[in-house]
Formats: sequence, C-alpha cells, structure tokens
Amino acid sequence: MLPKKTVKDVDVKGKRVLVRVDFNVPLKDGEVADDTRIIAALPTIKYLMRQGARVILASHLGRPKGQVKEEFRLDPVAQRLSDLLEKEVTKVDDCIGEEPKKAISQMQEGDVLLLENVRFYAGEKENDPQFAKELAELADLYVNDAFGTAHRAHASTAGVAEYLPAVAGFLMQKELEMLGQVLESPQKPFVAIIGGAKVSDKIGVIENLLDRVDTLIIGGGMANTFLKAKGMDVGRSLVEEDKIGLAQELMQKAAENKVQLTLPMDAVVADSIESPTNIKTVPVNGVPAGYMILDIGPQTAKQFADLVKKAGTVVWNGPMGVFEQDAFAKGTEQVARALANSDAVSVVGGGDSAAAVKKTGVTERITHISTGGGASLKFLEGKELPGITALEDA
Ligand code: ADP
Ligand code: MG
Repeated sequence: MLPKKTVKDVDVKGKRVLVRVDFNVPLKDGEVADDTRIIAALPTIKYLMRQGARVILASHLGRPKGQVKEEFRLDPVAQRLSDLLEKEVTKVDDCIGEEPKKAISQMQEGDVLLLENVRFYAGEKENDPQFAKELAELADLYVNDAFGTAHRAHASTAGVAEYLPAVAGFLMQKELEMLGQVLESPQKPFVAIIGGAKVSDKIGVIENLLDRVDTLIIGGGMANTFLKAKGMDVGRSLVEEDKIGLAQELMQKAAENKVQLTLPMDAVVADSIESPTNIKTVPVNGVPAGYMILDIGPQTAKQFADLVKKAGTVVWNGPMGVFEQDAFAKGTEQVARALANSDAVSVVGGGDSAAAVKKTGVTERITHISTGGGASLKFLEGKELPGITALEDA
C-alpha cells in the first residue's frame, strides 16, 4: 500500500476540518464505560486545534440501522471528550443539514464540534453519494482517523473523500505504518501467532502470512482442526470438519514455502467450558474421550515463548484458549507476556487479542496494538481497505 498524505501535509489553519473518528465506545447508564477509543483520537484532534482548525468530528455508535435511536446518541461521548480536552465540545443532534451548518458557522479557530451518529441515516452504510455530499458540504477538508471502520466503504469513511481533499490522521497513519511494516519489511525472523476459535475466520490471514513469515504458530480453537487433519483424536473439541482438507493444504503450502508451522504439543482440557468439573493437562494426542481442548498447555506456551524470543518481528492475532474463563486463560497470558518481554517489533491485531493483552497488563510493552479488529484482519489478509484507498497518496 502506498503511503498516504496526513494532516501534517496540508494547511488546516482556519479550515473547517471534518474528522472521521471511531467513537464507537461501550456505554453504561448513559456514560462512556471505556474511553480507549476517544483517547486514541486525541493526538489528531489536539493537533488540529493547535493549528487553528475548526474541528468537526463524525462517528458511528452501535447499530441504529439507519434510524434515530435515543440510546445511540453521541452526547455521552461529547461529555467525555470535553473532560479529556478540558474544553467545551459542542454537540449537535444531526450530522447533516441546517443544525450542524449553523453551529459550524459560529465556530472559532481551535473549536471542536461533534456531529450526531452518522448511522442514524441509512445513507451512511449504503455509501449513498447524496448523503456523502451533504457531509462534505460541512467542511473544507476531510481527515480519516477511524482505522477501525476503514475496511467498510461507508459514506463517512470513503464516499465523502470524493468531494473533499482527504488525508490520514495520526492514528490511521500509525496503523498504516506498523501493519504496513509487518507485511512489507519485517525484521527477520518473522513469527506469526494465529489463534481464536475458527480457521474459517482467519483463512485469508494465514494464506497471506504463509508467503511472508519464517514461522507460523497456530493455537487456540483453530489448532484443533489442524491436529485432526494430522490424524489426532481431539475428543469433543471445537473442530471444523469441513476445513480439515483446507488445514492439510495450508500445512502443505507451509512446507513448500519452507515456513516452520508449529502446532500445540500439549493442552488444557475439560469436560465443560462454563462449569468444568474436571480440568487436566494432557499431550495433544492423549485427549480423553468426552473432553475438549480449551487452552494450550505449559510446554506449548514455553515453546511458543522461545520462538517469540528469537523473533525480529511478531504479529499476533487470536487468543490461545477460551481466555474469558480464568481456568483457560494461562496460555494466552503467557503468549502476551512473551511478546512484552521480547525485543522484537510486536504487533497485535484483533479485538479479543487486544483485550487479552490489556487483561495481562502488558499493553505498554507491545510495539503496536491495532485499534481495528476487523480492519486489522483485512489488512493482514493483504486486502484493500476502502477507507484507506480513498485518501490521497503522499
Ligand atoms: P480476535 O478477536 O483477537 O481476532 P477471535 O475472535 O478470532 O480473536 O477469537 C477469540 C475467541 O476464540 C474467544 O472468544 C475464545 O474463547 C475463542 N477460543 C480460543 N480458543 C478456543 C478453544 N480452544 N475452543 C473454543 N473457543 C476458543
Ligand atoms: Mg474476536
């Protein structure tokens, strides 16, 4: 992917700048329950304020399905943003039309305004040109800082760029730089760790990485399908029977590409996920009848950690087990710690993986944790992201 122009490459002073941010935050009792995404957008917002721009923010929140739904209004976000900026943020109750236009006409340089949820209009997800045009009418320049929705061709993420000069914000730029570096110029050895529930969610990622990595580590529920493809009996573990052939092909491709493909050697197994009465650690070829693999075992975690230690670049997507349950979270935590302790460039993609890193308390020691779940996967698949393509090349 070509490098993109950023806010630093354009003159923003006095301009009305429409910034697409990802303020799709969890709410609880009418307040923001987790402001990570708001904080992630602050560098771009503060920079634009300092430069004397009139900062107009747009975001979606939840799934209002093209209608005004009270519970998806962005007022709680405006409140939290005001607190974080220590400056009043004007919130308007629409994202196009007269109300925002009037409020924008009254903005001073350095002021910040938040538009209402763009998904209150069906035209947002449909990428309706008329709706995109009406958004564009509010501003002189468009900045996309919402990497988390860059894989969607919506009006506020892609369509609007047809009508305004369009550049990347700092968060977007960092994602492009880090994920781009992983795919295009990784420090060797390049190790990828892929986990999560299903092979079917990650086929594209595995295929793309097999052309690039030195070592591919597979863990989590998806490893079961690979183990079964190697003829092992994995008991009642989650297996995608219709992906066993694919697993064989991927293992063959790894061999052809001289990629070391590593599967778990031991596992934590139990008779139930929610209310296990028996939990054991067994070799993967010794899963007792009636048991399920729910985490990687300690020997596997050690082997994975050793591979991470020797790596120049590590990319990780997908937990090693059912980490939501403490009994099955150790493998995932150990992998998170291995990344934190390594000197490698470490990049984590995927919503659950990022949550696992946070839970382990090592966020600060990871080189880059992507803010986009689906978007980071699409990027690692080597696919084009419409929200990025729409931006001007540097
Ligand atoms: P990410 O969001 O980081 O891309 P995924 O959504 O692909 O990760 O995978 C996370 C899910 O995988 C978690 O809900 C976890 O419980 C599940 N999972 C991991 N290992 C297993 C397993 N052995 N059996 C069943 N589910 C698993
Ligand atoms: Mg997930």
